[in-house]
Amino acid sequence: MDMSAISAILGSIKTASDLAKLIKDSGISLQEAEGKMKLADLISALADAKIEMASVQQVLIEKDSEIHKLQEKLEIKKKLYWARPYYWLIDGDKKDGPYCQQCYDKNKELIRLQDLGTGSWRCSNCKEFFTDNTYRTQSRADNEWDPFDR
Ligand SMILES: [Zn+2]
Repeated sequence: MDMSAISAILGSIKTASDLAKLIKDSGISLQEAEGKMKLADLISALADAKIEMASVQQVLIEKDSEIHKLQEKLEIKKKLYWARPYYWLIDGDKKDGPYCQQCYDKNKELIRLQDLGTGSWRCSNCKEFFTDNTYRTQSRADNEWDPFDR
């Protein structure tokens, strides 16, 4: 939405207000031709303002939706934790996942990996296979630090 739309709305509202004041203050009878013309202008200006307000409302709805999406992405980014070969979502002491690294890095999509057992995982979206350190050794190597191992 550009500022000219807002200016147009304000212009229409001002015209409508001016016309309303003119009719009120002039003491003219609405039966008079001039009064009727002014009233027609007033109705037209109000109709324009109404249409323009509807488009502003639509733009605001779209902006709200965009803001909401960005807030969600920001929340995810704050909670996202990379632990090779996949991502986890960490929320306080809650750990959710793992999620596909390919899908998140490419499209910011959080796709839960399917556990195939014995440390191998598969993404049902990009079809990528992942193996973690338990796959190679069948038990966690002592030199691999895992902050979630309790
Ligand atoms: Zn994937």
